[in-house]
Amino acid sequence: MTNRALERFNLTGRRALITGSSRGIGLALARGLAEAGAAVVINARDQDGARDALSRLHEEGLDATVAPFDVTKADDVAAAIDALEAHTGPIDILVNNAGIQRRAPLESFSSQDWNELMSVNLDGVFHVSQAVARHMLPRGRGKIINICSVQSELARPTIAPYAASKGAVRMLTKGMCADWARHGIQVNAIAPGYFATDLNRALVDDPEFSAWLCKRTPAGRWGNVDELCGAAVFLASDASSFVNGQTLFVDGGLTSVV
Ligand code: NAP
Repeated sequence: MTNRALERFNLTGRRALITGSSRGIGLALARGLAEAGAAVVINARDQDGARDALSRLHEEGLDATVAPFDVTKADDVAAAIDALEAHTGPIDILVNNAGIQRRAPLESFSSQDWNELMSVNLDGVFHVSQAVARHMLPRGRGKIINICSVQSELARPTIAPYAASKGAVRMLTKGMCADWARHGIQVNAIAPGYFATDLNRALVDDPEFSAWLCKRTPAGRWGNVDELCGAAVFLASDASSFVNGQTLFVDGGLTSVV
């Protein structure tokens, strides 16, 4: 490949905030964006977890800082984003990755679990995107990547509220595109299939589910979190400068085949 072709994917000189990046998919995406040249900002609620992730990236020679905040607290989010912009530098790329899972049959799903889930998975995307976009809009450029799910498209028993939240994030991606694309902000989503992380520990530990999943997924296996980085670098870089409002499924073919 020529240097010119690679240059389209180069993130040198860009700063990326990845919410929920102390572990799992968020940490993998932070590493992937940093390897493409970005300075990354690690976020999570737990400060120790965020600092551990930061140390790991520093040991790998990657450029990273930390901004612990809870994406559900609108005032804290706005203060943290304003502080980052003022003292660290502009946020060029936002990855809305923080998310949680709760499982129960819908008829016994508690209101508290419903509210917590919506608060992180949906409200959090709104709060952080709004706070960051208020800085991106005057600059006339920016990249926002929302982490959806195959459950943005497909439901499963016991996780109806999660599916509702991820379906909403897919639609919010299109809404952000409608409001912000003409101001130079490209908003897109990545919809991961099944990746072994803490969030789906219950499934990873269930051999029956694992066997079903490998049979159901055309690629025949679980995903490796590193396999999400190509899509993230593409959507964060100049290579996707006319890609707006799309959801890229990285799922081993799961949503393409019955
Ligand atoms: P994970 O391993 O449980 O990690 C979740 C991350 O989010 C942690 O860093 C956690 O740190 C942070 N977080 C949780 N609540 C937060 C809040 N209120 N404010 C800020 N940070 C918060 O989850 P994961 O599997 O990597 O999932 C990441 C994203 O991918 C989620 O949106 C999930 O829905 C989506 N996804 C995952 C899969 C999969 O197969 N794993 C598939 C499709 C989509 P603290 O707890 O310290 O805050």
